[in-house]
Amino acid sequence: MTETSPFSETYDAARNRFVDAARAAGGELQSYLNPNATGPGGESLAMDTAWFGPKDASAVLINTCGTHGAEGYAGSAAQLDWLTDGGPPSLPPGVAVLLIHAVNPYGFAWCLRGTENNVDLNRNWLDHDAPHPENALYDQVHPLLCPKRIDDKAIRRLLSEGARLISKHGQWALEDAISRGQYSHSDGFHFGGTSLEWSTETLKTIIKTELSSARQVAFIDWHTGPVGDGDLIFLCFSPPKSIGRAQAERWWGRDALSSSHVDELWGSKRPTRHGILFWGIEQAVRTHATFAGAVVEFRSARPKSNAADALRISMLERWLRFEGGLDAPEASKYLAEIREDYAPDRQSFRDNVIRNARQTYAQTLEGLATWRLSDAAD
Ligand SMILES: [Zn+2]
Repeated sequence: MTETSPFSETYDAARNRFVDAARAAGGELQSYLNPNATGPGGESLAMDTAWFGPKDASAVLINTCGTHGAEGYAGSAAQLDWLTDGGPPSLPPGVAVLLIHAVNPYGFAWCLRGTENNVDLNRNWLDHDAPHPENALYDQVHPLLCPKRIDDKAIRRLLSEGARLISKHGQWALEDAISRGQYSHSDGFHFGGTSLEWSTETLKTIIKTELSSARQVAFIDWHTGPVGDGDLIFLCFSPPKSIGRAQAERWWGRDALSSSHVDELWGSKRPTRHGILFWGIEQAVRTHATFAGAVVEFRSARPKSNAADALRISMLERWLRFEGGLDAPEASKYLAEIREDYAPDRQSFRDNVIRNARQTYAQTLEGLATWRLSDAAD
C-alpha cells in the first residue's frame, strides 16, 4: 500500500481520513456517536456524514458504507477517493451528495459484519411491533451453523446434515433460510433484531433532518463479499417497471441489473429479503421524493471449495461473538480470515474497487442531474 492509497488499515484511521478530507473539500459535517459500544482500542465509534452541494438541492445522492461493518473498508476507500479526486467541485448544478461513513461502526472497527448486538442491518429496518417474517427452516439449520468448536467434526456434520436438508427442501430453500434473515435466534446468522438498532435509528434521523428538500433521491450502499476481484454486482430492489428501476437501468445499464446476470455473479438465485436499508430509506423519503439506487457489491472473496467453506466466514464471526470471545487465542487468525474475505489487501482488488467506484459515481451523478432536469420540465 502506498502512502496515498485511500484504503485504511483500521476503522479509526478510515474515520479520521474521511472527516479530514470531507472538511478540506468544503463539506458540511455531522457526527453521530454510538453510545452503546467502543472499538478494540477503546476508541469512540460514530457514523459521520458530509454534505456537498446546495442544502436545498432537489437531487441528492445518498452514499453509505459499512452497513455490514468490515465490508466498509472498500466503501470507505471509494468515498475517500471521491473526496480527494475532485468529486465535490465537479458536482452538476442542483445536485448534492450526502456521504454517510460507517453505518455500522462497531462491525467496521472489530472487523465483523453485524452490529454490537449481532444484528444484520439489512434485515433490521422493519416495524418490530408487527409479526416478524417467518423462517421455519432456519430453526433446523441453526445448530449446524453454531458449533462449540469449528473443527473437522463440525464441518462433516454441517455437510452431511446440510445434504439431508437439501435433499428434502432443495438447495435454494436451504440457502434462502440461512441468509434471508431470522428473528428468533439472537446468536444466529443474519439476525434481524427485535427492535431498531442504533444504526437504523440514526439513519432515520439523518434522512429526516437532511433530505426534506429532496425530490429525486439516488442511493448507493457499498458492500463487499461475493467471490471476485473488485468487480461490481448491482442489487436493485425497485420493482420492475417502477420509476426507480427505470432510473437505475438508465444509469448503470439494463444488463447489469438483470436478475440472470446478477444471479450468475452472485453464484446462485438471490435470496428473499426483508428490512433492508434500501426500502427503509425509500419509505422515509416517499412523501416528497422519488427514489432509485442499489446495494452495490465489490466482489472480494476467494473462490470457495464447498458449502462449508462458503459458510465459514459467518461461522467464524459467530464463534468469536458467542463461543470463544474476541480475546480467544484463535481470534487474530479468525479475524484475519474474515478480513481477507471482506477487505482483501490484494492490489488488483483495490485497483478495481477504485476504478469501478469512480465510474459508478460518475454515472449516478450524471443520471441524477438528467433526472432532475426531466422532472423540472414536466
Ligand atoms: Zn454486505
